[in-house]
Amino acid sequence: MNMQRILDDIAAEMAAEIDRGKVADYIPQLAHVNPNQFGIAVATPDGQVYAAGDADTLFSIQSISKVFTLTIALGKLGDALWTHVGREPSGDPFNSIMILESESGRPRNPFINAGAIAVVDAIMMGHEPKEILAEILRFVHFIADDDSIRFDHKVAASEMAHKDRNAALAHFMKAFGRLEHDVDKVLGTYFHQCSIAMTCQQLAHAGLFLVSNGMNEHTGVRVINAERARRINSLMMMCGHYDGSGEFAYLVGLPGKSGVGGGILTIAPGKGAIAVWSPGLDHVGNSKLGLKALQRLVEKTGWSVFST
Ligand code: GLU
Repeated sequence: MNMQRILDDIAAEMAAEIDRGKVADYIPQLAHVNPNQFGIAVATPDGQVYAAGDADTLFSIQSISKVFTLTIALGKLGDALWTHVGREPSGDPFNSIMILESESGRPRNPFINAGAIAVVDAIMMGHEPKEILAEILRFVHFIADDDSIRFDHKVAASEMAHKDRNAALAHFMKAFGRLEHDVDKVLGTYFHQCSIAMTCQQLAHAGLFLVSNGMNEHTGVRVINAERARRINSLMMMCGHYDGSGEFAYLVGLPGKSGVGGGILTIAPGKGAIAVWSPGLDHVGNSKLGLKALQRLVEKTGWSVFST
């Protein structure tokens, strides 16, 4: 299989697409991003990274960061994390408040906004946002093997200035006694984690530990144990794309996590980590061309977990 050729073909096909979706504008700082961009990168367990299109351009990883904070939270709390958040698909939009009320403020899963906010609260454990943010960034540096990765403070500030929806979720959970820390501190931490800027190449590299049972096979560095990696992958498969998760499993058939910045991190167990980015979103908030490109990749490589 010639992976470079596959990625070049996909990038060429995506460059010709007319309908590129709509850039998220509820975070004003993201509304300025040029929708005509597309990048894709594949990192394989042997240490190779293949890339095409705008795979070297930094973008806001947004909700993809929830995979990283979930990994940190499971490391700190173990199974006790599941008293804070569930692990069932929600079938609702990423910022929905609906099921929170009927389920006493316990979010359905760690990948909807309410769930990710609960995860941040759980890992704070009395620490100041600064310390937690340093820990999150250290973890991302470690898994991506790249110390240049940074928060985008402008994006974080933009989200804080338009926080009403997420603040409503957080206050609602707090009213149920589900959040321990000050709401603004939890939100500030959450918005910064979402603001992390990465390229497709960095993101694909960062996903490698989920490809090979919790370790980077090439360097031999273990990040988490195999059972935990398997479970994070299954959560990504079931809940990684909000109310588009079923469609993603149907069309792509791989664990993945999307973000409203237009990125998607996808894991092909044993084969590779795929990062794709195009800022235009579909009606549920997932990258329109990202989904299309991943469909092509799976057709060309046979990498779905549902085929042999
Ligand atoms: N920071 C975004 C928000 O809270 C994350 C949403 C997403 O990427 O899906 O609205």
